Amino acid sequence: MSLITSIQKYSIHDGDGIRTTVFFKGCLLKCLWCHNPETQCFKPQLLCDSERCAGCGSCAVVCPQNAVREEAGKMVTDRKLCTGCGTCVDSCNLNLREVAGKEYTVSELVKELRKDEMFYEESGGGVTLSGGEVMMADMDYVEELVKRLDRMGISVAIDTCGQAPYENFERLLPYTDTFLYDIKTMDNEIHKKYMGMGNEQILENLERISSKGARIYIRIPVIREVNGTKEDMEEIIRYLREKQIRVANINLLPYHNTGSGKYEKLGLTYGGTKLHAPSGEEMEQFVTLFKQSGFQNVKIGG
Ligand code: SF4
Ligand code: SF4
Repeated sequence: MSLITSIQKYSIHDGDGIRTTVFFKGCLLKCLWCHNPETQCFKPQLLCDSERCAGCGSCAVVCPQNAVREEAGKMVTDRKLCTGCGTCVDSCNLNLREVAGKEYTVSELVKELRKDEMFYEESGGGVTLSGGEVMMADMDYVEELVKRLDRMGISVAIDTCGQAPYENFERLLPYTDTFLYDIKTMDNEIHKKYMGMGNEQILENLERISSKGARIYIRIPVIREVNGTKEDMEEIIRYLREKQIRVANINLLPYHNTGSGKYEKLGLTYGGTKLHAPSGEEMEQFVTLFKQSGFQNVKIGG
């Protein structure tokens, strides 16, 4: 069984055509600007819009962990005690509480994904498994899911940060049309500083799936402080060329802080406040750099 935080329909930025994107919960990286912070932790998590809390106390009454207490007229959830059980969700008349992380059986999930089959067929789309990090989910579950989608002729794309054991990639390779594979920076120290871990395994996995013939879209979140110089992009280009990575597409994704509002609801602090997107002109220059280096399918955005 795997925890899923959401299923997003009609996605047009997660691979070819119209896709339904499944967000799995849990990721080993801790990117400071993560747009989906509710997918980082491997356990269910409570989100609460405390700013709008009326202090009625209904959630405190039902909480089996006594995790909710009053502080200055508002109800505050002790994150160390909260198990994300969800008992309090329906108690809030203002609908301020929700839990990220729901279990689906493979059959339930396939049933849900098949509802959009008509859109996949018409647009050349399919299903994208994302996160969090789908390659760190229960791999028996994920393998069964992709096999069943494959048997039904539904295209599967894997959106990955690459930080997972190679064996997991190997299991999915025969059933995966496209890997949407993130590269953030070639500088290992910068990688550790902004992503919480080095990039060794990420690059090794990329080289190995490429050598096995995987179809790969390289996705680069472009952030001034992380990889925003011409030299940073040239290093990535040099790496892709030297390792002869089979690149079908390159997507340059300018930094944005969508998702920063979710941190407070999770009782977390957004770590990306000092990060910036490059200018439009700089982004265009990066596109030109890739094109001049022989990568023609490069664009800004997903
Ligand atoms: S999710 Fe469960 S443990 Fe957490 S505050 Fe609500 S009722 Fe209590
Ligand atoms: S039930 Fe909702 S409004 Fe009432 S105290 Fe809990 S979070 Fe606040």
